[in-house]
Amino acid sequence: PPRIGVLALQGDVREHLRVLTELGATASLVRRPGDLAAVDGLVLPGGESSVIDKLARAFGMQQPIRDAITAGMPVYGTCAGLILLADRVDGAIAGQETFGGLDVTVRRNAFGGQTESFETALAVAGWDALVHAAFIRAPLVTELGPQVRSLATLPDGGVVAVEQGRLLATAFHPEVSGERRFHERFLAHVREARASAR
Ligand code: GLN
Repeated sequence: PPRIGVLALQGDVREHLRVLTELGATASLVRRPGDLAAVDGLVLPGGESSVIDKLARAFGMQQPIRDAITAGMPVYGTCAGLILLADRVDGAIAGQETFGGLDVTVRRNAFGGQTESFETALAVAGWDALVHAAFIRAPLVTELGPQVRSLATLPDGGVVAVEQGRLLATAFHPEVSGERRFHERFLAHVREARASAR
């Protein structure tokens, strides 16, 4: 089975572990550079991107994660994880950095504060059934580079799911609403990457 690491510095790590395990992956926590060497793909959970960024730098994880992304490791980021994958962030706190790799600009807290969290049903490119999506102080993708594909938009056209090669990111949290198809899509990237490395 694919070996998946969930970056476990802060955020909704357990929810991702559960979905990944239910899908038959071998999921483990990633906290140190050595943990990263033992996995074929990485999940960046939802949480608070500025805190995860700070802890990643404190734990010496920023460069190893950047290197893994550059080397083509499949990554799936949800919400804060989308922000951490983005090359550019509007509304970042002072000194906030990202791992980058995804050629997008995201706007942090694009929908206002905690009270403006909401759930909605979204159409995703190529999927028959709607996705039940939970937005929690969510970011929005405001600019997409030429290699980036939009997978889902809100009714007003705001982009909330993107893919660039083996990087997948959603502004919402499928892991909290029982939605598994994004994780399946990510695991397909992991299988492809393993097959092409052989
Ligand atoms: N607002 C958070 C941030 O800036 C993201 C929220 C989430 O992951 N649910 O990181």
